[in-house]
Amino acid sequence: MRAVRMTAPGVLEQVEVPAPDAGPGEVLLRVGAVGACHSDLHILDARAGMFPTPITLGHEIAGTVDTIGAGVTGWSPGDRAAVYGIIGCGRCRACLRGLENQCRVVAVGGIGLSRDGGLAEYVVVPASRLLHIGDMELEQAAPLTDAALTPYHAVELARPNLRPGTSCVVIGIGGLGHMAVQILVATTAVRVIAVDTSVAALDLATRLGAHEVVQAGPDTVERIRATVGPPPDGADVVLDFVGADPTLSTARQVVATGGRVMLVGLAGGTLPVRPVADEPPTLPLETSVEVPFWGTRAELQEVIALGRARLLQADVQIFPLERAPEAYELLRRGEIHGRAVIVP
Ligand code: NAD
Ligand code: ZN
Ligand code: ZN
Repeated sequence: MRAVRMTAPGVLEQVEVPAPDAGPGEVLLRVGAVGACHSDLHILDARAGMFPTPITLGHEIAGTVDTIGAGVTGWSPGDRAAVYGIIGCGRCRACLRGLENQCRVVAVGGIGLSRDGGLAEYVVVPASRLLHIGDMELEQAAPLTDAALTPYHAVELARPNLRPGTSCVVIGIGGLGHMAVQILVATTAVRVIAVDTSVAALDLATRLGAHEVVQAGPDTVERIRATVGPPPDGADVVLDFVGADPTLSTARQVVATGGRVMLVGLAGGTLPVRPVADEPPTLPLETSVEVPFWGTRAELQEVIALGRARLLQADVQIFPLERAPEAYELLRRGEIHGRAVIVP
């Protein structure tokens, strides 16, 4: 079968590989759609040894059950499914509570991360990773599994601060951010302020229901403060889907006293934490900073419910498998709007 693999650190190419078989407890899925996540670029850029090579990338997957392995119940050939990408140890304190995204044994384990992913005609996944999607289009279901699940989880964590009438600044309106705007609109009564360097991304945010948009530039902080209020007032929650020094600097300057900064983006920036004694303090009093990771299976089921109700719709740009490397190049250059979805 055809697969797009990281064959060495930084090298992404289409190759022919044998089609895999489903082992006990596993399912062979015919891949219908795979979202191209910015994290795949971080994986490609990571130093040698961080991720196994060769590996088929792609951790945002939807498809159709082809064959089932021994002992699998509840799934039949032809069933359509979304894939929960995390594979925790299943036995630690966190996994037992359903928080596989906090597994104490496997740090970052999953499909397309520590074993072959979905950028291929077929992928093998543990049956426990599959969720039913009804008659949803596979191109819409795939982005739900990460581009929507990750912001949904961040919003769940921040929900105590997202009370009616509060404000949420969303930085980075790409794959995750454009789903975050919709999640906020669908599940809260907060004012949503979208921030991006790209005008096209901000236009998308407006179409999806953002109440204000701010183009990132030298006066980002002043312009956000003009809508959320100056310190000690500010944004009740900041969702940073970039995580670079400039966005983290913005986040800490616009977050309200008692607010929450949710650092989701992995661009490698630093957020200094120094309470009031020094001048100026790096964070307002009572502010919390969290580093959410992906989400839980239970949350994915809720995200799929939102998708099936058409309350969440990814803005997708479709690419065939052979153009996957090009899709990632466009993503790197900031030229994808919404989510690039690869259809093998
Ligand atoms: P993306 O490339 O689709 O979107 C990024 C957006 O940020 C783009 O619209 C871009 O224009 C904007 N942007 C870039 N620099 C900016 C700046 N300085 N100011 C304002 N906007 C800026 O990426 P994505 O797939 O949505 O992923 C976003 C980040 O989240 C990546 O770092 C990814 O690795 C990370 N991620 C984290 C998790 C997690 O669990 N923590 C899960 C998935 C993705
Ligand atoms: Zn991802
Ligand atoms: Zn575990």
